This record gives sequence, structure tokens and C-alpha cells, in this order.
Amino acid sequence: MPLKTQNLRVLPMNFIESYHEGSERVFVLHGIIEIRIPSKAFQQHLDRGRTVEEIISSLEPRILKNHVTGRNLVYVTRESGIPLRGHNAFGLIDRGTNVIQVRPISGCNMNCIFCAVDEGRGTKTRATDYIVEPEYLLEEFRKIAELKGAGIEAHIDGQGEPFLYPYMVELVKGVKSIPEVNVVSAQTNGMPLNEKLIQELEPYMSRINLSINAIDSELAAKMAGTTDYDLNHVMNVARIIADSEIDLLIAPVWVPGWNDNEITRIIDFAMKVGAGRVYPPLGLQKYLSHKNGRKVRAKRVSFPAFYERLRNMEKEHNIKLVLEKSDFGIVPGRRDRAGYRKGDVISIELVEAGRLSGEVLGICGGRTIAVITRKAPGSTIKAKIVRVKDDMYLAEG
Ligand code: SF4
Repeated sequence: MPLKTQNLRVLPMNFIESYHEGSERVFVLHGIIEIRIPSKAFQQHLDRGRTVEEIISSLEPRILKNHVTGRNLVYVTRESGIPLRGHNAFGLIDRGTNVIQVRPISGCNMNCIFCAVDEGRGTKTRATDYIVEPEYLLEEFRKIAELKGAGIEAHIDGQGEPFLYPYMVELVKGVKSIPEVNVVSAQTNGMPLNEKLIQELEPYMSRINLSINAIDSELAAKMAGTTDYDLNHVMNVARIIADSEIDLLIAPVWVPGWNDNEITRIIDFAMKVGAGRVYPPLGLQKYLSHKNGRKVRAKRVSFPAFYERLRNMEKEHNIKLVLEKSDFGIVPGRRDRAGYRKGDVISIELVEAGRLSGEVLGICGGRTIAVITRKAPGSTIKAKIVRVKDDMYLAEG
């Protein structure tokens, strides 16, 4: 099914990679947005005097793909009518604190063995990716920020690697210019970062949470699920961040039985490199098996045992590892919710391909709702809300 794509921002042609594949002409914008147009149709439009930029930007039929994951990609603009609230794969998430999560893109360049959202090329569950136009994201962010008032942290994360977003500098600059925002932070696996990008972000960004799961490079690549993972590059990125005005937090996932011996080495590296000047230097997470996440064989460790290990390491290294909301200045905040409850039956307009196989994106009451259904986009159905979490909804119909 061709996806509705709306107008794309197209670069001058000399910035676009272009090639033929089978009966299609393929264009790649910013290394991530792949546009596929049937060669015949492309030639017809050229013959009618259209420019290549015009054809890429708005003509149908064409298919958009995430060049990194290979999945179909939906370009979410204001004109698309797709709300940025209600879904966890893209847009904005308000969990009722002073933190607003910003999700500009889905999809990942890694393939971690423990990935909670089963991301990367090896996914068995993710069917579609989304990318949000920066102006739309900023406009909607501003509305939530005004409602919440001063003291907001914009935290850029996602179901995937947020730095694959080609408009990251524009986004970070944009949120930082909003008067209510005082902290801008982001998560990353570090692979898309480099010195130039860090320098561009430095005046606006407060903190980067960088995942490093092992100091042994072979094990690190094994855990990342791809030989493309370059630990040396990521460690160098850590050094550059720590030397900049941006605070560095190293965020390993402890997968018992896999990287038990690496945790101490990661702590040593974090201390040596100068992580945590403002915030804690480490945010150690325990591997959890999620319903739609990637499962890895790991030794069972209870939460009390996990925290006991953290407390022992705190004493050993004289470092804070058991983190609290107050370490990040997180406090309760105002929020507005669509207010649907589990069991409600609502009328939902199905508009786009769903994030997971067997799902479709629907719209109702200013929220994008994931709908488990056999119906295709283009129809309106009655569906029952089966899950509600922080103003994000799953329906079935
Ligand atoms: S980097 Fe993060 S999102 Fe990407 S595969 Fe690994 S855990 Fe998943």
C-alpha cells in the first residue's frame, strides 16, 4: 500500500543520493528518508517539465522508506492530520511531570539483543516507521509547555535512535528557545554523533544519555546485535561530550550473564572521562523482558538483588548509582488528557499503517490511537479501548 506522504523538504539535488533499483528510481535524503518512484512515472513527469525536486517532494505514486531500517516510513506533517499525542512511537508524551518526551523519529541503526522495543533490521514486530516534520513538532510542543509553565525538560528519545532524525539541531535549538524550557536532554547509542554535531548542539543541549553496555569491543558489538557497532567511536563521542558544555550520563543496560564483569569497567570509564558534572554520571538499568521487546537468555535477578548490587558498587566506587527523580529535577506537572478509559467504545478514523504488524493508526479526539484491526486505512470503525497509559491508547475493533 503506498503511504500518503505529503510535501517533503527537499534538499538541492547535489545533497541527494540517487540510484536505480529494479523498476524504481530511489532517492535518499539526509541518509534516512528513502523515496521510491516507479521509473516510468518519474520519466513521464520529467518529460512534462517537472523538476526532480518537485517530483520527489510531492508527486504520487511513491513510497517512503526508512533507509536505515528498510521499513515503510510515514512523514507526519500538520497537513497529514495525524495528532502528535496518543502514540508512543512518535510525537510528544506527557506523563504528568515537568518532563515532555519528544519523539521525532522511530527506527534504529542498531539491533541490540535486549531491545525493549525490538528495534533495528532484525525486528520481528515493527512494521512501520514515522518521522515528524520539525515545525509541527515544535508547534505542538509549545502548546504543552505553555500549559505546564516554567521549568520544563524536553527529553528527546524514541523507539529507536533519535539522532537519526535529520533535523536534530533545528529541533534542539527550537525547544531551547521556548521560554518554559530550561533543560534539553537526549538519549543515544552514540553511533550517529560526531564532533561537529556535538559542537552545533553544545549551546542548546544540557545532557546526553549515552548507552555503553561493555568496554570489551567484541562483547559490545555482540550486545548491539550488529558488526556495524564501533565501540571506539562511541567512547570517543563520550570524551567529546564530556569535554563540552553538555553533561554526559552513561546509561548501560545490565544483562545478567552477559555483561556482569563490564559494569565496573564502565563505571571506571565514566569517572575517568568526566561524566556527571551536573547530573549523576551513570544511569544503570536492569534488563527487563517486555511483551513486544526482544528476548535474550539472561540470568534471573530480582529488583532487590539489583539494587543491593548497585548499593555495594556505590560504596566501592564512591559514586551515586541508585537514582531518584530528584536527581533530574523531575517534579509533578499539569497535563491535559483525552481521558478515554479502558472499555470505552469510540469511533476511530483509520488513517495510516500501524507501528506493529496487525495494527493501524487511527485518530479520535485529537489523539493518534494504535488500533488492532483487520480494516485498512481509509475507513472509520467503532473500537474498544483496551489499554491506557499516560494518555496513550490501544484500541481493538
Ligand atoms: S540502540 Fe536502543 S533502540 Fe536501538 S536497538 Fe539498541 S536498545 Fe533498541
